[in-house]
Amino acid sequence: ATPTALLVGTGRGAQLGILIKGPQVLESTRQADTIVLDKTGTVTTGQMTLLDVIPAAGEARADVLRMAGALESASEHPIAQAIAKAAAAEGPLPQIASFSNVEGLGVTGVIDGRKVVVGRAGLLTDFDLPPDLAAAQQAAQEQARTAVLAGWEGSVRAVFVVADAVKATSAQAVAQLRGLGLTPVLLTGDNTSAARSIAAQVGIDEVVAEVLPHEKVEAVKRLQAQGKVVAMVGDGVNDAAALAQADLGLAMGTGTDVAIEASDLTLVRGDLMAAVDAIRLSRRTLATIK
Ligand code: ADP
Ligand code: MG
Repeated sequence: ATPTALLVGTGRGAQLGILIKGPQVLESTRQADTIVLDKTGTVTTGQMTLLDVIPAAGEARADVLRMAGALESASEHPIAQAIAKAAAAEGPLPQIASFSNVEGLGVTGVIDGRKVVVGRAGLLTDFDLPPDLAAAQQAAQEQARTAVLAGWEGSVRAVFVVADAVKATSAQAVAQLRGLGLTPVLLTGDNTSAARSIAAQVGIDEVVAEVLPHEKVEAVKRLQAQGKVVAMVGDGVNDAAALAQADLGLAMGTGTDVAIEASDLTLVRGDLMAAVDAIRLSRRTLATIK
């Protein structure tokens, strides 16, 4: 009788837009007591908008936008796309002589013989940060926004303020996940202030922020070491290792292939309510078997 119940479960899953890798997945959904949620692209839409460009004193807005936009046009990160799109709308972008992506931190490259770095503060620690830009960075983060720094020739030359929106169903999904006995934890590479503000908007108390991609795995391991059975939902390349480490990995169908491959379950619709459906369905299917 067992195989029939499982087939019904996975068939219903397909109808709900949930792709299950195999029947062994169902058992972990029953035991999970913690659900780690990636922020960008999972709880939020991941579609970043460039809200503000703040050039350092003596720098022109158009110049800093052109330099950062040129470099970011070589990256697929949502932040990069927002900056590159805004820059391209204002005119042609300079050629980049070399490019390298620093996962979870930003991008570096050479433009007009100058070494340019665009990314989070941790990537520009060698650069001189003018006090007005430090203040602009701080102010942006306190408003749940992400501040991206751009610098070359020893100095930070601009702050780019980007933000994305919480998905319409995220708060409802978090409440229902709690109802299923799962404690939500927000996990992100973004800064702590922005992360806390998003967490508050959707009803999450526990936040792990400013983590590098390899530290996302550590965060999951730490919870497991505390005896937690961890489900995780993510969408990015930087989530893949953590999704594989989790007892139950759920990938957003709107996310990257690497995340989908590393997961046990794919949520085709790309919204968190599908995670609620997936856990309910698995538990119901198991109840039928037992
Ligand atoms: P998340 O965990 O929220 O999905 P990431 O690990 O992809 O975020 O990135 C963490 C942080 O690194 C971002 O919030 C941003 O500050 C910075 N960052 C990463 N890639 C880029 C980029 N291409 N341009 C600018 N900033 C970047
Ligand atoms: Mg993400």
